[in-house]
Amino acid sequence: MRTAIFPGSFDPFTIGHLDIVERGLQLFDRVVIGIGRNSMKGETFPLAFRVESLKDYFKSEERVAVDVYDGLTVDFARMHGAKFLLRGVRTVQDFEYEQAMAEANRQLDGIETVLLYARPEHAYISSSLVRELYSYNRDVSRLVPCRLP
Ligand code: ADP
Repeated sequence: MRTAIFPGSFDPFTIGHLDIVERGLQLFDRVVIGIGRNSMKGETFPLAFRVESLKDYFKSEERVAVDVYDGLTVDFARMHGAKFLLRGVRTVQDFEYEQAMAEANRQLDGIETVLLYARPEHAYISSSLVRELYSYNRDVSRLVPCRLP
């Protein structure tokens, strides 16, 4: 069974992330959404909210799992028996960052990274944009699949 980890902060999970999961399911038998606990980045939406809302959203899709991790993504991948990381690319900046991470993860543990291009209509969507709009009480419901608190 081919399992891919889709790692990220998902603070919050957007329709851009959702599209990567759905397209990932065409390539892999199973996709584990790995919510990385990142002490450096801080969080806007509580971890418990992110986990529970995503579990609820994917409850009828048995090929998608949601889990939280600390530490290295490659260790989390090994724990799930996954040899692949799934990532999305929006911009040249994303690409350069992903290139460095992919090489590090491949050298560390032989984990391969599969990159999918963001759909053009999703390329402007980021968690930080959603957080910004949300902080000014703007309606972000079109940008996120799970209703925000
Ligand atoms: P990280 O903090 O690891 O970058 P994010 O939660 O911001 O985590 O993003 C997780 C993954 O989803 C990254 O590969 C990112 O490039 C990708 N991604 C983010 N937004 C979009 C989008 N709108 N369309 C496609 N992929 C996206």
